[in-house]
Amino acid sequence: MVAMHTKPNDLLELIDKIEDLGNFQDRIDSPFNLSQIWQTFLADICNLIDIDVCALFLVAEDTQEFALKYVTPEDQGAICREEVAVQIECGIFSWIINRRQPALIPALVFKNQKSLVMLPLATMKKTLGVACVLTSIKESFITHETLKLLAILAKQCSLVIENTFLYEGLKKKHESLEKANGEIRILSITDALTGCYNRGYLNQHLPQEIKRSLRYRHPLAVALCDIDHFKKVNDTYGHLCGDMVLKRFVQRIAQVVRQDTDWLARYGGEEFLLVLPETGVQNACVLAERLRNRVSQEEIATEEGPISITASFGVTGFDSVDGSAGISAEAMINAADRYLYQAKKAGRNKVVGGSFLDV
Ligand code: GH3
Ligand code: MG
Ligand code: MG
Repeated sequence: MVAMHTKPNDLLELIDKIEDLGNFQDRIDSPFNLSQIWQTFLADICNLIDIDVCALFLVAEDTQEFALKYVTPEDQGAICREEVAVQIECGIFSWIINRRQPALIPALVFKNQKSLVMLPLATMKKTLGVACVLTSIKESFITHETLKLLAILAKQCSLVIENTFLYEGLKKKHESLEKANGEIRILSITDALTGCYNRGYLNQHLPQEIKRSLRYRHPLAVALCDIDHFKKVNDTYGHLCGDMVLKRFVQRIAQVVRQDTDWLARYGGEEFLLVLPETGVQNACVLAERLRNRVSQEEIATEEGPISITASFGVTGFDSVDGSAGISAEAMINAADRYLYQAKKAGRNKVVGGSFLDV
């Protein structure tokens, strides 16, 4: 229908313009950060009008004030800020923002020597900012058509900027949720007092550790450690001091074992289970002996003064899969507990261990 009343050349020009706008839309939609969006926008504005200075002011989320984000050429930031400040003072800036239409006005700082095209960047939902174009072209030479095309570019640019902000906001929220989830996960498997794994982690991971060792025919050992006469520590120095002793005890064990494979879980009050993958019972007993020695020889510094403690160890596990198939975590802990009982009975501050089949 349009063609009926339009000269062929005008029609071709119109088609070219529509195609240009379509291309602009594709170009501005593909970048994923604000700087690239701005560069694309800028390049297309340059095709429509001679630019002296072009600047992007964005509304700051926290202050709701217009802050300069980008300016081309880069050394023209101060003059742009000054121009906008004067326009704000005269009330023109807010009039343009509220109108949500491009406006062609004399640049006040340049005392009418330059024209200022203001392009509000807004969507249905919110005002994002304003693009200011300073040009030496006299206002009367800038056509209505140019302003209309600039308005279309600004509209496309606004939609893409809004999408980018939404995406960045979602990404930030997702990242902080991921972080919080990670922290919650760590808290849920950690013993709050000592920082080692808790009983829940032990219940979940010891069966897996056993399964893996059996499947690959690798040895696995556990050592149940119990602080001797710990009740006395509490009774003599107080519960808080007892807490400090528990913390230091765990730190001491962590310093001796292999960080990458061995792990320690709090089994009960002053009882801890040390899990030693790739370790046979004999070697586990050697390690437990080293731990026992260290615990008994180094006093623990507390606010109540240095405190000496000892610990007993019940060690068990399997070196080969013969007879071990189907062993449960419970059976393994029970065996370790029985060896621990023997260590206590033998006078405490001892290591007793052996195969879980022999106990
Ligand atoms: P044994 O040598 O036979 O193991 O003697 P014990 O005194 O260490 O054992 P008992 O089971 O009689 O006492 C354990 C004590 O550990 C009693 C309990 O109050 C204390 N306890 C358990 N959990 C905590 C804790 O989180 N903090 C402190 N301070 N004490 C704890
Ligand atoms: Mg004890
Ligand atoms: Mg105990």
